[in-house]
Formats: sequence, C-alpha cells, structure tokens
Amino acid sequence: MRELCLRCFRPISNCYCRYASDVDCGIKFVFLMHPKEAKRQRTGTGRLASICLPGSEIIMGIDFTQNERLNSLLNDERYFPMLMYPGEDAWNCGRQGFKEAVGNKQPLVIIIDSTWFCSKKMIRLSKNLHKLPKLSFKGSYKSIFTFKKEPYDYCVSTIESCYYIIKELQSCSLAKAECSPEPLMYIFRKMIEFQLSKENERIESGLPGSHAYDWKYTRKKEIPNLKAEAASPKSES
Ligand SMILES: [Zn+2]
Repeated sequence: MRELCLRCFRPISNCYCRYASDVDCGIKFVFLMHPKEAKRQRTGTGRLASICLPGSEIIMGIDFTQNERLNSLLNDERYFPMLMYPGEDAWNCGRQGFKEAVGNKQPLVIIIDSTWFCSKKMIRLSKNLHKLPKLSFKGSYKSIFTFKKEPYDYCVSTIESCYYIIKELQSCSLAKAECSPEPLMYIFRKMIEFQLSKENERIESGLPGSHAYDWKYTRKKEIPNLKAEAASPKSES
C-alpha cells in the first residue's frame, strides 16, 4: 500500500501540502463530511480547504443530531454558527442587519462536504442543523472544476465556497480584510491540473477508465488556463 500524507490524505509522492498556505481569515470553518466523500479523496475538496484554513475542523458522519463535537461548537457562546445553504431566509452580505446579528461573535461557517444528493439527506437527518441561521452567497459563481458534474449551476466545490464566502464576508467586515483567500484557489488549481494530466495520461496509454463507455471520458481534456478563469464571478448582483 502506498504511504499517505496524514494531512491531505494524498500519496506522499504527490502530496498537495506543498501548495498549501494559511488563509487566516477570522472565520471558523467546519466541514461536515459524508463518509463517502472521505473515500473520494481524489476529487474531494473539503480536506484540501481545511489544510489552508487554520482552526477549521472536519467532522465525519451522516446524522449529526447527537454529534458531541458539533453540538459543543453550536453551543459555544463565542461563535455565531451558520449553515451554508441557499434559501430565501438565508443571510448574505447584502442583507440588512447581518453584521448586527453576528455582533462581536466569530462567524462559524458550517459546510456540508458531500454531493448535493447526500447533503440533502444529511441535513434532513441532522435535527441540530434545522434551527441554524443559513448563509448563502450574495453573488453567483461558476465552478472552475469542470470535470465534476453537479446537477445545479450554483454547486461550486467546497473549496470554492470557502473562497467566495471569505471574500463576501470581507466585504461586510465579518472577515479579516488583510487576509488573502487566494491560496485556496491556488491549491485547487494545482489539484485540477494534476487530475487532468493524470486523466490525459490514462487516455494516451489506452487504458480503460471507469467510464470507458462514455466518449466524454475517452477524449483528451484540454488543461484550461485556470489563472485567467479563476475567481471571476458570473455576475455580481
Ligand atoms: Zn499532504
């Protein structure tokens, strides 16, 4: 068995930690990770985000109702917990009263790190998440993660969600203004470049992939110029 890096869970030979630097933005991030997502380390971005975000935590599970760690964070007076989830009733930086609601507490942003389908189930089962204020984006953003298909356009990856929500919370003075979130996009681009080049190697060598029946997966991928595309919101509303 290949030796794994205990921080990013990648094989030591191509560990992503060398691309990581701290994004000390003043927000505490908690990633609720479905056990299936934990296995999908190849394309999972929650762990990648967590190695760049000091103080962030990954909590594994499906139903978090009785989860001690999560419940102690939710009951900690120092934090203003919010669940990243779209909705009419969600807070965003454009809504009046948001900064006042948070007050002098530290924003605690809870992100479900899973597929859209599993996320819905996790939220349905986890009753302690139901009463939490929701947080969503003011702007709408498009993922640069082109080979991971999500059913809805607004499903940016977990690491991109962190990047955009930091920028937005900075705009309403709820995150440290002097902190640059760019290391998140940098490590994400490095992951995409690595994955696409591996995929192209596989196609060139003629080895069958797990989706060999589908032409989309047998044609070589162009490695996009991610520097130019990264961090450009579709529209700023
Ligand atoms: Zn590593």
